[in-house]
Amino acid sequence: MNVLITGGAGFIGSHLSERLLKDGHRVVAVDNFITGSRANVAHLAANPDFELIERDIIAGLDYAGPLDAVMNLASPASPVGYLDNPIETMLVGSHGTRNALELARVKGARFLQASTSEVYGDPLEHPQKESYWGNVSCTGVRSVYDEAKRFAEALTMAYHRRHGLPTRIIRIFNTYGPRMDLNDGRVVPNFVKQAVKNEPVTIYGDGTATRSFTYVSDLVEGMLRLLMSDEPMPVNVGNPREMTMTEFAEAVLKAAGPECRSQAVYVQPSKERIADDPQRRRPDITRARAILGWDPKVPLEDGLRETIAYFRSVIH
Ligand code: NAD
Ligand code: UDP
Repeated sequence: MNVLITGGAGFIGSHLSERLLKDGHRVVAVDNFITGSRANVAHLAANPDFELIERDIIAGLDYAGPLDAVMNLASPASPVGYLDNPIETMLVGSHGTRNALELARVKGARFLQASTSEVYGDPLEHPQKESYWGNVSCTGVRSVYDEAKRFAEALTMAYHRRHGLPTRIIRIFNTYGPRMDLNDGRVVPNFVKQAVKNEPVTIYGDGTATRSFTYVSDLVEGMLRLLMSDEPMPVNVGNPREMTMTEFAEAVLKAAGPECRSQAVYVQPSKERIADDPQRRRPDITRARAILGWDPKVPLEDGLRETIAYFRSVIH
């Protein structure tokens, strides 16, 4: 296949590109590097089946060659990333997604939208099933991301219904692994960086908020299975192992080994940073299991070991 990935130089985009190339496909990565970087895909640059195009997909998106799939990953993804770039986040979810959908339509390509568990907001239903409509503030600080992603899902469904475009929507839950941006403020890079540097591990608030962490290779497997399926309705892909941030801090410290001298501390970040912070998050993956035959394979302990090794290699 010829696959165009918007946001291809991001954390997930780089792993997706790597996997597609390994499977014998051609990859065109389009990125404006607002939160990603050329370094994420530098190891793919010499591959003749890999092409990197610098472009802001808000302004437009075209490609001269044939395409079998367009995978739309472009968007700031961390709370810090979208709080720093609120308008860009709304525009990439709206104009950018429209441009990506139009490209898929013109090329007769299948389309996959990278959506998020944030469409559920601070959920009142637990665990989250795809049928849950969510609890999202449309004016809060996170709204720029949540509402852009909800709009992107709605637009994707409109293209499916109006144009018969073969569209897929994946709702990604917290994913981690090598090549996460060290400084994007998410809990995995924060805790791992702090553990690697023997600094205090900063748990926000009382540490009772929960998340469920998926290793990036499991996510990529789920993304590709969904792309090749016939399922137009959203599918959650995430690891259902839920833990509090206090438990997660303990897991990171344990994985960092006996040489790590860090300790967990409870801190109060800025009000903006934790406004509307979802208190519980765990995917119900009944649909992913039934439709895709997908289940996560990588235990947290193994994934953390890989992630810590990567952070050690870039920090030292
Ligand atoms: P990332 O920031 O590493 O990757 C996003 C990429 O999109 C970056 O390379 C960025 O430069 C690029 N981009 C942003 N705006 C663009 C624009 N206007 N034009 C071209 N490129 C643009 O983040 P990630 O974690 O790899 O996330 C990838 C996708 O998956 C995002 O859409 C995100 O919302 C979604 N997602 C990620 C997670 C997660 O836990 N990592 C969870 C849910 C959803
Ligand atoms: N968090 C934390 N310490 C940090 C960074 C984040 O305790 O140094 C918490 C944050 O308040 C939230 C959870 O970790 O409850 C996950 O936050 P993250 O920014 O990774 O992403 P989110 O899942 O909110 O999009």
